[in-house]
Amino acid sequence: MNSIIEKDIVIIGAGLTGLTSAYYLNKEQADFIVIEKKDKVGGVIQTEKHNGYLVETGPNTGVVGQPEVAELFEDLGNKCEIDIPGKEVNKRFILKNSKWEPLPSGILKGITTPLFTFGDKLRLLGEPFRSRGKNPDENLAQLVIRRMGKSFLDYVIDPFILGVYSGDPKILITRHAMPKLYKLEQEYGSFIGGSIKKGFKKKTERELKATRKVFSVKGGLSELTNTLYNETGTDKFILGSKDLQINYVDGKYISTLKNSEGKEITIKSNKLITTTGAFELDNFISFVDKKTLAPITSLQYANVVEVVMGFENWDGFKPEGFGGLIPFVENRDVLGVLFMSTLFMNRTPENGTLFTMFIGGMRKSHLFEKSEDELKAIIEKEFMQLLKPSKFNPSLFKLYWHKGAIPQYGIESEGRFNKVKELENKYPGLFFGGNLKDGIGMADRIKQGKELAERAK
Ligand SMILES: Cc1cc2nc3c(=O)[nH]c(=O)nc-3n(C[C@H](O)[C@H](O)[C@H](O)COP(=O)(O)OP(=O)(O)OC[C@H]3O[C@@H](n4cnc5c(N)ncnc54)[C@H](O)[C@@H]3O)c2cc1C
Repeated sequence: MNSIIEKDIVIIGAGLTGLTSAYYLNKEQADFIVIEKKDKVGGVIQTEKHNGYLVETGPNTGVVGQPEVAELFEDLGNKCEIDIPGKEVNKRFILKNSKWEPLPSGILKGITTPLFTFGDKLRLLGEPFRSRGKNPDENLAQLVIRRMGKSFLDYVIDPFILGVYSGDPKILITRHAMPKLYKLEQEYGSFIGGSIKKGFKKKTERELKATRKVFSVKGGLSELTNTLYNETGTDKFILGSKDLQINYVDGKYISTLKNSEGKEITIKSNKLITTTGAFELDNFISFVDKKTLAPITSLQYANVVEVVMGFENWDGFKPEGFGGLIPFVENRDVLGVLFMSTLFMNRTPENGTLFTMFIGGMRKSHLFEKSEDELKAIIEKEFMQLLKPSKFNPSLFKLYWHKGAIPQYGIESEGRFNKVKELENKYPGLFFGGNLKDGIGMADRIKQGKELAERAK
């Protein structure tokens, strides 16, 4: 029998965005329900335990880049503890000519590092005096070459972009993909001058909560998503949903679906919040035709393979610091490697060492199509050359495929954001969330999740 439920708000997706929205809506005693097609919450955030190793299978670390992150953990109190690594995290390595070079942290190290050419080091002195960019659609590669030089692009920004976006700086549009960097130039006229001036600017107590600190959660990131789920109330979720279709009739959103037992459910709501990837919207939004939705659903995503490796008696490159990033110009098959057991305690058996590597991304998408055996062979070869253990004998070796992992905020972003606004205006109570807008990191998702709750309540 078809059961009919009336709710004020329906949220689609129980990843970090949907869970954050649900958590804050619940605090406001709003009348809502979350529909999730998987049989568990967390979306791409899934922590697993294997042979004494605590493993992240999606994101590994976030940055406390928005006050909302600190506020969420404050609010959760001792139910879920943020895990901030020590200063060692500031040490990062960049591969150049097959050798790991520390990313310079100060002026002196910046002068002596072999990562940048002599010409670009000299050029950097002129950075504060260079004029502002005038093209709002300048891509990240153009911006960095214009202000800092090609070697800075190749050995800082490009590997950073591979680490965050698995992307290509020639495709990412700065004002959409790295809005803080874009504003730095536009507001202060210079990265160097702007960073110094910003450092002196008096910040409010709330602004001070946003830092560059890296974070995870004690016990793994799933502790956060599970805590949000439990604190919101598990009865507010339909997990394992199938065949979701949503129509808009007489000012109401009509969601029809089957629950995990195959029972048909109809939910009538005044408001609808979507938090899925852009590519999913076509599958359940029936009141807008595919062509109209195309500026949103055509958003490109990078596919990546995440490789988790644990070693019992590690004798290779000393994994001090955050990890190593690999510039595209080095022509390797790996995007980067994180030193997870250096960053966070209690994630390995005694004397264990844990690494996470990423493969694929926008510029090596063919690797995503390889078979598991082919990939394992590539990983072993790359890992031996990059981290130089005496033998390849991991006690943990797991691969996780992420199709549609990281959205690429390219030139078409403006069209997507306009279409979102247009549809939200046309359909009262419709809110598009998720990583199709407002940033790709976990901090952005928490910020957006809270904002969605405020808009919809
Ligand atoms: C491999 C990888 C590594 C990353 N690394 C980092 C990192 O180091 N640092 C960082 O800050 N961020 C990182 N990110 C990004 C970060 O993880 C995401 O921004 C964030 O977790 C996304 O949360 P979300 O809720 O917006 O989306 P998702 O987690 O994708 O959740 C969306 C949910 O919607 C559900 N859904 C989809 N379609 C339907 C449907 N038809 N009906 C019902 N439910 C549906 C999905 O099952 C899913 O649970 C990484 C992401 C990936 C994939």
